Amino acid sequence: MRCEDLPYEVDLRQVAESLRKTEVSRVVIQLPDGLKKYGVAIAECLRESLGEVEIYVHADSIYGSCDLQYGQLLATLKPDAIVHIGHSPYPVELAHEGLEPKGTRVLYVPALSKLRASREAIRSAAEILRSYDVREVSIVTTAQHVHMVKEVQRELEEEGLRAVVPRGLPPYFSDGQIIGCDYRVARAIKAKAFLYFGGGVFHPLGLYLSTFKPVVKLDPYEDKASDVTPLGEKTYRIRLMRVAESFGLERWGVFVGVKSGQYRPWLLKLLLEEMKSRGRKYFLISSENLSLQNLMAVDNEWFQAFTVTSCPRIPIDDHWDYVKPVLTPGETIMALRGELEPYRFPW
Ligand code: SF4
Repeated sequence: MRCEDLPYEVDLRQVAESLRKTEVSRVVIQLPDGLKKYGVAIAECLRESLGEVEIYVHADSIYGSCDLQYGQLLATLKPDAIVHIGHSPYPVELAHEGLEPKGTRVLYVPALSKLRASREAIRSAAEILRSYDVREVSIVTTAQHVHMVKEVQRELEEEGLRAVVPRGLPPYFSDGQIIGCDYRVARAIKAKAFLYFGGGVFHPLGLYLSTFKPVVKLDPYEDKASDVTPLGEKTYRIRLMRVAESFGLERWGVFVGVKSGQYRPWLLKLLLEEMKSRGRKYFLISSENLSLQNLMAVDNEWFQAFTVTSCPRIPIDDHWDYVKPVLTPGETIMALRGELEPYRFPW
């Protein structure tokens, strides 16, 4: 496959230019799972521009820019640069100072999808939005579709809706951009409803939990529109149940993430102070990948509940039905205080 044939727009010329500014002899390319199969084509293109540079395509799963896998990768290969494709930089205020590694440059490279939604799908999205009696809608999306928001805005307006695109949060987010644990861009506008442009339910579900406004998905992969609001409501009820089950529990396991952007000392301090002030006992548990297997391995009769400070989607999307409550940090604060509202998400 040639670079021009990639189904995503990746500006490799700019990457090569940027890499040439300093001497590089070893480069690691990181890609989301869906793009990994294009790793070889991307490596080949970079090699053509850079000449004798050793290029690796990293195979391990990468969930976001919170997960640059510096640890073993940097210690063993000591690359001069990491080319991280498909995600924007992770907000340092959600993680910790010193998020970027010393001695290795990290280049964040957008991978822009070439997909569009048909007129029929847009019309269908507008119809669902109108069923909520809304005339004004805010458009949000993920990193790979940020270049599409203006076009979607225009098309929604042609369908008779007033559409706005919330301003981004540079250098982390472009206009309208959200990630699974940060909805500040969406929340900055007091919208009556959201149009999410993108695939899957991960992001629109998080959007609902952080705004409680109707969320309609316009999916360019399936070329159709659907209403994510009922799933959001159902998930919200499950989360409240898990919070209520945790009221008064005394012995907690506190998972501390060790991925680059998932270590959050500020959040840990806040949680532990709340626990101490309320006479709760806890043990700290470090974790890189909190799978069910890892959770079950560490669990024993001492623990009554768990809180996860690494990724707030692990309790909601992965371990929502675990035999003991597994809560996000925001939910843990609710549980410790014995409150069911306001619902706190993501933090
Ligand atoms: S939602 Fe989880 S995986 Fe995604 S960016 Fe946030 S911490 Fe990382």
